[in-house]
Amino acid sequence: MKKAIVIGSGAGGAMAAKMLAKDFDVTVLEQGQAFKPLTLPLNQLAKFRWTGLYFDERLIQFFLPAMRIDRNPETVMVYGRGIGGTTTLATGNAVRADEGLKKIGIHLDREFEELYQELPITTDHQHRWSRITKQTFEVMQEMGFDPQPMPKLLRTKQCRMCGHCSIGCPTQAKWDTRELLEGIKVITGCKVTHIDIGDQIAKRVYVSNTSSLHWGSERSLEADVIVVAAGGYGTPDILRNSGIDCQPRLFIDPVLCVAAPMEQARQDHQLLMPFVSRREKYIISPYMDWLSFFFNKRWYKSMDSMVSLMIKLADVEQGDVHHNKMQKNLTTTDHEYLKRGVADCREILLRMGVHEQNIFLGTLNAGHPGGMLPLSAAEAETLHSPLLPDNLYVADASLLPQALGLPPMLTIMALAKRISRIISQQYG
Ligand SMILES: Cc1cc2nc3c(=O)[nH]c(=O)nc-3n(C[C@H](O)[C@H](O)[C@H](O)COP(=O)(O)OP(=O)(O)OC[C@H]3O[C@@H](n4cnc5c(N)ncnc54)[C@H](O)[C@@H]3O)c2cc1C
Ligand code: SF4
Repeated sequence: MKKAIVIGSGAGGAMAAKMLAKDFDVTVLEQGQAFKPLTLPLNQLAKFRWTGLYFDERLIQFFLPAMRIDRNPETVMVYGRGIGGTTTLATGNAVRADEGLKKIGIHLDREFEELYQELPITTDHQHRWSRITKQTFEVMQEMGFDPQPMPKLLRTKQCRMCGHCSIGCPTQAKWDTRELLEGIKVITGCKVTHIDIGDQIAKRVYVSNTSSLHWGSERSLEADVIVVAAGGYGTPDILRNSGIDCQPRLFIDPVLCVAAPMEQARQDHQLLMPFVSRREKYIISPYMDWLSFFFNKRWYKSMDSMVSLMIKLADVEQGDVHHNKMQKNLTTTDHEYLKRGVADCREILLRMGVHEQNIFLGTLNAGHPGGMLPLSAAEAETLHSPLLPDNLYVADASLLPQALGLPPMLTIMALAKRISRIISQQYG
């Protein structure tokens, strides 16, 4: 059987591995380790906020090793490192967001249809919403924001409504891509540095870290086909180290929360992002922002007595990442749209009875990096950049031609499915 290596086990990598396993002997190389959710009681951890212990978001990896943080003076970037990639930290939103792909002639109807059949996607969670979620939904309806229940990768019956979706689901009610990897060989603790390329063929994959017991003393691996799916933050480094250029078109979908104290709102015990309102360039959705709650002094309030709304923006595709360090500043246009989002959220909170002077903002953060090897119309059939050797494919957020301002996981998985089909036809 021919061999395939998949680098990364997140949305794109795990889906590619699952698909390719039908025709190839697949090995997944994953830099991180097995995922463990944060299980320490949050109310106890919250007591230490006053000691000044939580002075930098990067400290979070000591409590939750799979959550990695990069930051510049403006934005905190969150991404996953471990089996399941960033999907283990996702809030389970399953949104079809392929407008940008359709514009360049990429139609993934078959793949989306299959995903709807194969994955536990549901909007049947409204009956579990809390009082405050229902109230926010009704206020936004009255204001003409057209809120819609969010499609979730969720087994509703198993959900405890604990609000921990972004720090790891304790019950496995929330689906993530670890479920795709059953029966597939995954080597953890294995950081890919570069790929040896010659005569338009990718030959060997080199790794710098060989902590995994399965790995032995070898430092490189050979395969007939290689798929890079190290995410929007990891793939550009691997490609550049291998002599393949990427474009400085990093998008991140910045997130800003607008919050206020509200007695016994209990938003901390609610599915994150239960519904969504789509605006021009951004979405609004209820979201308990744990990052701000622990690391932003304005958020040093009681976790059960606040209400918070998230703005998630489709930013201008402009920026870069080198060695896991983001080089990105938001543009005037981005700030303009964020300002509009904040004004919308203020209006909603005021209608919910909050006092203007009590409203406060969260930390600007982001968790959807991508766009640095964007697909173009010329690649609509092959989904393969001419910059890549024939047997090397990319299958992650790096391929997205534009910022989505929407949850990207489902769209990345649809792309990875199609790419795997193309690979199987050519090499399987
Ligand atoms: C808090 C949070 C909540 C989110 N919620 C949602 C949501 O509800 N719905 C949604 O659609 N999206 C959500 N997202 C975004 C979504 O999870 C990501 O966009 C998606 O997982 C990206 O898929 P990917 O395959 O590009 O990369 P990833 O899922 O990030 O996977 C990349 C993998 O590659 C590995 N890797 C990186 N470098 C190397 C290397 N050199 N060698 C080997 N392995 C490497 C990483 O460890 C990782 O496992 C959320 C993100 C965050 C941060
Ligand atoms: S709210 Fe539900 S899906 Fe989210 S972490 Fe808790 S049990 Fe899991």
